[in-house]
Amino acid sequence: MGKRAIICAAAGALSLLAAIAIVGQTEATSNGPKPRVIVMAVNGMEWDIVRPLLIRGELPNLKHVIENGVYGKLRTISAPNCPKVFTTFFTSVPPDKNGITGFVVDGQTASTDMLKSEPIWSILSKHAVTVGMANVPATFPVMPVNGYMISGMLTRGKGCEDGILCAPKLSEVQGGDAVYPTSMVAELEANVGDFRIDCSRMPNENELQGREAKEVTAWLDGVQKIREQQQKLFVYLLKNHPTDFTMFDQSCEDRTGHWLYPIQDFNVGYNAKVNSVDVDAFPDQYRAFDKVLGAILPFVDANTTLFIISDHGIKPLREFGDEHENHSHGSKVPSTTPVIAKHDFPDGDDVPGAFIAMGPGIKQDYEFEGFAASAYDIAPTVLHLYGITAPPQMQGHFLAEIYIDGDQKQTAKLSH
Ligand SMILES: [Zn+2]
Repeated sequence: MGKRAIICAAAGALSLLAAIAIVGQTEATSNGPKPRVIVMAVNGMEWDIVRPLLIRGELPNLKHVIENGVYGKLRTISAPNCPKVFTTFFTSVPPDKNGITGFVVDGQTASTDMLKSEPIWSILSKHAVTVGMANVPATFPVMPVNGYMISGMLTRGKGCEDGILCAPKLSEVQGGDAVYPTSMVAELEANVGDFRIDCSRMPNENELQGREAKEVTAWLDGVQKIREQQQKLFVYLLKNHPTDFTMFDQSCEDRTGHWLYPIQDFNVGYNAKVNSVDVDAFPDQYRAFDKVLGAILPFVDANTTLFIISDHGIKPLREFGDEHENHSHGSKVPSTTPVIAKHDFPDGDDVPGAFIAMGPGIKQDYEFEGFAASAYDIAPTVLHLYGITAPPQMQGHFLAEIYIDGDQKQTAKLSH
């Protein structure tokens, strides 16, 4: 879509500059500029919904990134859900080996104590790369990093005791730290406010009964407030705590899709009282995401690689029975939210995620066909940008194919 904005020669020069930057930093680890990487993750970005919005010009910031970068599907894992796929992003190791096999592992809500493979934040920190993460799923309790970490989905707290598909406020967190270093809590409360760590719980069947329109509207208003707080948090962090590697996540897209996907009356689970209240509720999440992206783009300079990734897509239910299996995501407290769309199909290729990248040396306006990029490739690709060889347990590879030429790959190899 769109035209190529910058000619190849200019992009080639950028690639060379990036290569020089990589050599510079690997030769003198603590001196000189390191490449900057910003990963903006979205839970459940669904291309079926995003593409029409892009074509209609309703996602100008995402369009800008796509026209100046590469984009396509991201191969996810089998029966994908957020904790499983995010931990695959962090470790490039399959869930049965990395320790995080779902929302609940051996009867306990998944937590970072269960990690059996070294996550990317730890590897980067050891190599003197500064790390900043906020609201990323499956990062609770937070772990020490060479920078800061603010947890996301699966954070436990008041009114969200099991941490599953709910969100405590920063002041209500229990059972572990949501912020590293802890000294940052007061600073965040003073400058950002008492924000919610994750998206809010969906109303259940009883709450909806007889007051569907009111509940849908009130919940969506709450979601928008959470998003505004998140944007404030992200911008505050980028401004006041810049790091070499930065990773943020938003999860309200997925949460909204589960019960407000714009389905038709022939789809499984259709309930006009709920599903006709706001048929734009789910597309609106991407319109809102685009605004958040617009607030982040000013921090993406010529030395920065921006990745926009999604752990999986989300599709309407296809069979009867689906809706009763998938409400709780393994929670001990079963939710009765009328779920009409899901992502944990056994074949992950039914619900691919998204992979979008823009930065020094990266191809422009280039669409991946098929599954050129997988969830396993995220960690090796980020490590590679810092000249760090992926440890042998990592199953993915550096995505050389997103670059105009192979120089970056060779440069990093030479420096080790
Ligand atoms: Zn979900």
